[in-house]
Amino acid sequence: MEDTISAVATAWGEGGIGIVRISGPKSYEILQRIFIPKRPPLVHRQLTYGQIVDPSNQNVIDEVLAVFMQAPHTYTTEDIAEIHCHGSSVALQRVLALTLEHGARIAEPGEFTKRAFLNGRIDLSQAEAVIDLIRAKTEKSFDAAMNQMEGVLSQKICAIREKLTDLLVTIAVNLDYPDEDIEEITYEQMDNSLRDIESAISLLLETAQTGKLLREGISIAIAGKPNVGKSSLMNQFLRESRAIVTDIPGTTRDTIEESLNLRGFPVRLIDTAGIREAGDIIEKIGIEKSKEVLAGADFVIFMLDGSRPLTLEDREAASHIREKKALILVNKTDLDCVLTEEEAKSLIPDASVMFTSMESGEGMREAEEYIFRMLCNGDVVSEQMPFITNVRHIDCIKKAQEEIQAALLLCQSNQALDFIEVNVRQGFEYLGEIIGETVSDTIIDEVFSRFCLGK
Ligand code: GDP
Repeated sequence: MEDTISAVATAWGEGGIGIVRISGPKSYEILQRIFIPKRPPLVHRQLTYGQIVDPSNQNVIDEVLAVFMQAPHTYTTEDIAEIHCHGSSVALQRVLALTLEHGARIAEPGEFTKRAFLNGRIDLSQAEAVIDLIRAKTEKSFDAAMNQMEGVLSQKICAIREKLTDLLVTIAVNLDYPDEDIEEITYEQMDNSLRDIESAISLLLETAQTGKLLREGISIAIAGKPNVGKSSLMNQFLRESRAIVTDIPGTTRDTIEESLNLRGFPVRLIDTAGIREAGDIIEKIGIEKSKEVLAGADFVIFMLDGSRPLTLEDREAASHIREKKALILVNKTDLDCVLTEEEAKSLIPDASVMFTSMESGEGMREAEEYIFRMLCNGDVVSEQMPFITNVRHIDCIKKAQEEIQAALLLCQSNQALDFIEVNVRQGFEYLGEIIGETVSDTIIDEVFSRFCLGK
């Protein structure tokens, strides 16, 4: 029989309420022992007012609302009890301790959701969406996670796997009963099916880049020599978009870094000026650090002072970003502009050039639009398509695609069916890893280890 697990499901700290959640066969028994309803009986799925009392000494621990939900229609599909305490960590600790004394064990991080997965209520990609949902910093990231949690991705994956199953069955019949009077599959038919499957996979992958950015966010470094307007740009961005409250450590002493919501994308904006200043004592360290940040950034905004001719310092600053995706902003257009687009572009030939003024705000909308389009990869993503947000999923889909492409090549050179079958089957397995059907325990443990306690 499964253990009964218990944990505080709400965040630690002060709060109006805090919830202790218990899941497993002993949930009801534990609740009965420690909860005394004001007006018995305790009705299934009905929130009931009462007290948590320590049965060993009759001490009242807290006044609470409690609910019992019977299996199987619960989060974990097991019996679940929830105790809504006052949001004090003392109350929560005491109630949690009582549940442990009376037969529960403390839940591991993500164990409630893991049980929902192991008991077959949700698949692995849906379970992963739960954590994305909790961590989402913008509406768009939240929506993408919600979409995945509701099974949109799973449905697409299952649909492709069904086509692969059909193909595998046909191949197997042809291999196993070659002499029987069955319809023989032709290479042309197989080629058609494989192409159809390959294009369905490619379509899924199209959303991967945008999806990954939505889930993980994007880091944009602002570079340029001193006084071109980098901090002013940072302030403009912060004024126009809402800053995100983030728990990711990063605003360290020597980097000026802000998190913001750029049209639904979580963005980390890093001003490399802060890094240089920190290097005052040993300038070299500052420059090295600046290079490091630039190398790690997904995108660079390189700024120039349009009211002054280019200098060696501009060229030196630009030389570190040749390899990066970049946008050049020729700033201070409210002053007399002496820089041309060609001159600016000569510094980083692959970058686009835009003109801005941090003083008047000119060009800011266009710059933001440019960055947004770059984030969306230029594609308009259709509403029905799920975003593939998770690197693990992207990896599995790419591997599946490679297998199908390999099968196509074999098919085109009329190779033996059993060769082709190997790749098709492997593609089927890779897609199965996404939803957790063909996945190792190591991967499952790895997925759930990222969860927080009580989820
Ligand atoms: P940073 O050293 O690159 O971070 O540059 P700052 O943002 O600190 O700006 C340096 C100076 O240029 C400040 O005095 C700003 O007010 C000024 N500045 C920044 N952008 C503009 C602009 O578009 N027009 C004008 N006229 N001044 C600007």
